[in-house]
Amino acid sequence: MEKLYVVIPCYNEEEVLEETKRRLKEKISTLIKNKRISKESKVVFVNDGSKDKTWDLICSFHQEDRLFEGINLSRNRGHQNALVAGLLTVRDDADIVISMDADLQDDIDAIDEMLDKRKDGCEIVYGVRSSRKKDSFFKRFTAQAFYRFMSMMGVDVIYNHADYRLTSKRVLNEFANYKEVNLFLRGIFPLVGFKSDIVYYERAERFAGESKYPLKKMLNFAWDGITSFSVKPIRLVLNLGILILILSVCMIIYCIIRKFGGKTVEGWTFIVCSLWLLGGVQMLSLGVIGEYIGKIYSETKARPRYIIQEYLK
Ligand code: UDP
Ligand code: MG
Repeated sequence: MEKLYVVIPCYNEEEVLEETKRRLKEKISTLIKNKRISKESKVVFVNDGSKDKTWDLICSFHQEDRLFEGINLSRNRGHQNALVAGLLTVRDDADIVISMDADLQDDIDAIDEMLDKRKDGCEIVYGVRSSRKKDSFFKRFTAQAFYRFMSMMGVDVIYNHADYRLTSKRVLNEFANYKEVNLFLRGIFPLVGFKSDIVYYERAERFAGESKYPLKKMLNFAWDGITSFSVKPIRLVLNLGILILILSVCMIIYCIIRKFGGKTVEGWTFIVCSLWLLGGVQMLSLGVIGEYIGKIYSETKARPRYIIQEYLK
């Protein structure tokens, strides 16, 4: 039986934590009783520099019951960093890890199905929201626009999958080789590869408290996702440069025709032609420089070039 660790990043979650703990205790106990997971499975709360009583609560959970463990970060580093701290800290002890939010929006019962898929040999199981009925219109709209935009930018993300997922120890060990600082986890795990599957669940409303992702953080997150995975914005500049250069040739022809038509002020043709030509050349050069910066950017990430799944010899 495999040892399951559930990792939960928490930021100012004192209102929901009691309930989260109660439900997880119930779930894990049932799973242990049914011999689905090892008796040594754990629930690990990662306190992401909360300003309320979150850490005190986590300490008291740990006192009460050794099923619960806590990791206290030195300050608030954001959801993705808190999650990575949790994943990389538990990976030595765990066989499989499930990450989920503290607010009970992710359906705990989907864990059963995730374990089924794991039994079928999956190394990653993505939890995907089957609908967003319970989300506010604003959240639904922005989230969907975000996923569309990401795929337009050529980033391989799973539609409507947040950070509710099961990963095996093997995947986490490979993931540890992705050393980038700007983290966008839901883009990295598909890159790691291996056999994976999807589990659908209904996304519930936040149990209590309010979203820790205000618009500003959400926009930052989306921007991080795009700029950490895509060089398309740079290509856009290059394409714009080519377009303007082509346009400038048309403009030059037009200017010359007008000049010989005699309808121009002295010097106009020269100024307009140089304006277009210079603009085009500049934009094109920026694009070319951008291409090289794009290459530097991928090199500095030093991502692993491949991961071997099997080696028969
Ligand atoms: N979170 C965190 N650090 C932060 C912001 C959020 O650890 O700086 C945690 C939060 O406690 C929750 C999860 O990230 O467990 C998701 O946040 P939230 O539910 O507020 O996001 P939403 O569901 O509204 O997108
Ligand atoms: Mg939430």
